Amino acid sequence: MKAMLNSLMQLQSVDNKLQALEALKGDLPQQIQKLKDELQSLKDQHEAEKNALTEAKKSRLHWEGDLKVSEEKLNKYQDQLYAVTTNKEYDAITIEIDTAKEKKDESENKILELIEEEETRTAEEKNLASQVEMMQENLIKKEKNLKEKIQATEKESLSFEDRRKELSGSIQRNVLYQYERIRKGLGNSAVAEVRNYGCIACLTTIPPQRVVEIRMMNQLILCESCGRILVHKSEKELVEN
Ligand SMILES: [Zn+2]
Repeated sequence: MKAMLNSLMQLQSVDNKLQALEALKGDLPQQIQKLKDELQSLKDQHEAEKNALTEAKKSRLHWEGDLKVSEEKLNKYQDQLYAVTTNKEYDAITIEIDTAKEKKDESENKILELIEEEETRTAEEKNLASQVEMMQENLIKKEKNLKEKIQATEKESLSFEDRRKELSGSIQRNVLYQYERIRKGLGNSAVAEVRNYGCIACLTTIPPQRVVEIRMMNQLILCESCGRILVHKSEKELVEN
């Protein structure tokens, strides 16, 4: 058990170092993820704007077709008007002419509206395209930066990972499981040293009899207050760490 507790202490020290290396990356990974999400949302907006622009153009072509039909009808009826011989015929054609004029006006108004819409959407589409481009450049820069930081610490990180595996292998599975559970729950800190009759992690006082047991290092004792695995460091270890 003593050897295992010593391994746990070392494992905690390795985990602290790994955490410090991880901290060197700062919040770059989160920044990159945030940028990626924003970029995706911008790309979606850009795509939607492009589609809406295409739709507006299609719609304008449709109304332009209608306008042409109305104009042709109007010309035809106006020609017919010169050839009428009865009042009844005259009235009927006049109604047709009015209807064609209304349709022509409607088409012209729609076409004007759509031309305005296309102008607005074209500007917005360009604006979004340049935002997408800028954000992509920013993302590439940040990813490069993170990659450099990772590379700088990679060697060190790998050697700690190796040491971690080695130490984990020397610890009983159920104890290791307990260590990991406490570590995850308490921000990477699962092992606490007892010093001056207290747990150095939570500063709770420990009864002298318990301290004696902990010093013997022959059983797994958890701090009653914070739940960490309590260990005792010899003078020699204190100097080394
Ligand atoms: Zn404690």
